[in-house]
Amino acid sequence: MPQVKAYAAQSATTPLAPFTLQRREPNSHDVVIDIMFCGVCHSDLHMVRDEWGESMFPLVPGHEIVGRVSRVGELVTKYKIGDLVGVGVIVDSCRTCASCKKGLEQYCEVHWVPTYSGYEMDRTTITYGGYSKQIVTDENFVLRISEKLKPEEVAPLLCAGITTYSPLRHWKAGKGMRVGIVGLGGLGHMAVKFASSFGAEVTMLSTSDSKKMDAKRLGATHFINTRNESTKKYRNHFDLIINTISAQHDINAYLATLKLDGTMVMLGIPPDDSALGISGLISKRRTLAGSMIGGINETQEMLNYCAQHNITSDVEVINMSHIENAYSRMTQGDVRYRFVIDMNSL
Ligand code: NAP
Ligand code: ZN
Ligand code: ZN
Repeated sequence: MPQVKAYAAQSATTPLAPFTLQRREPNSHDVVIDIMFCGVCHSDLHMVRDEWGESMFPLVPGHEIVGRVSRVGELVTKYKIGDLVGVGVIVDSCRTCASCKKGLEQYCEVHWVPTYSGYEMDRTTITYGGYSKQIVTDENFVLRISEKLKPEEVAPLLCAGITTYSPLRHWKAGKGMRVGIVGLGGLGHMAVKFASSFGAEVTMLSTSDSKKMDAKRLGATHFINTRNESTKKYRNHFDLIINTISAQHDINAYLATLKLDGTMVMLGIPPDDSALGISGLISKRRTLAGSMIGGINETQEMLNYCAQHNITSDVEVINMSHIENAYSRMTQGDVRYRFVIDMNSL
């Protein structure tokens, strides 16, 4: 494989800059993908700033990848040259444990391989993500993308899409359910679209009054500005809350808005875990849950659902060199609603 142009962080305190990396020669089941677009997830920002204390540098972020197949290994059967495909957050797993057998590779009991800043199954080779011109991925972890949708608007589905689709399906969001979505960013805007598409009554809980009209356009019936309006009015109100906040916050205020047997699913991963008031759980047999992305089969199911129902992400396409500006806007909650890098600009 030739060397591949990319953008990398050399440390937690230096800005992303041009970098050259060596991808592996494609193995028999590998697909080489020429990357067209890569979404910018808040996890990229947590990772390049080493906010979770697990980053490996140099770090090439990016796990919302859409591109075209340019080469295939000799035993590849699922894809051919020219196919429009995607790669999300996982690029391999043990494939044999109980979770993998159920299609829940993200909960693999042995080892799963994140698209960047993780170890391959050999536990020594470090992975590099989609802020790059090409990626080499096993065909079993590649997703098929419909030609019907705009590829730049599809890219964020590979993480923000599946991360919200999966818990909404698992907790059966649908008609007759009141669903609250907390935080209107990349994950939040996909959660609003999916929950309303599944027939739930959706309320957006946001700190940004300026996003009110957008919340309604995306499918929310109600909007609560949590900075000005107390959530006390909504005590015992929601069946399900999807919490996407990326920073530390008072989760107890949101827990109190769940009704009897309600569940709040934590998706955001703030650098400092939020303190939990246990009495808030006990008083209404509430459940506090978490959920991580989704398995490969479910990701394909979500992509097919989106193609069928014409659901994509609202994106702001940027050049690779503007990434630091995008990160700083993201830190301020100023995302409408996903930055996507045009890899032609690299
Ligand atoms: P994002 O686009 O930056 O959106 C986060 C939103 O949270 C902001 O737009 C803002 O919405 C709200 N927010 C930010 N700071 C806040 C604060 N201090 N108090 C209250 N609200 C605040 O981020 P994202 O890409 O959607 O990711 C969200 C989180 O999910 C990140 O922590 C990310 O690492 C995590 N994540 C988890 C998974 C998983 O598998 N569980 C997958 C992907 C990402 P408003 O302006 O509406 O208040
Ligand atoms: Zn992500
Ligand atoms: Zn496994």
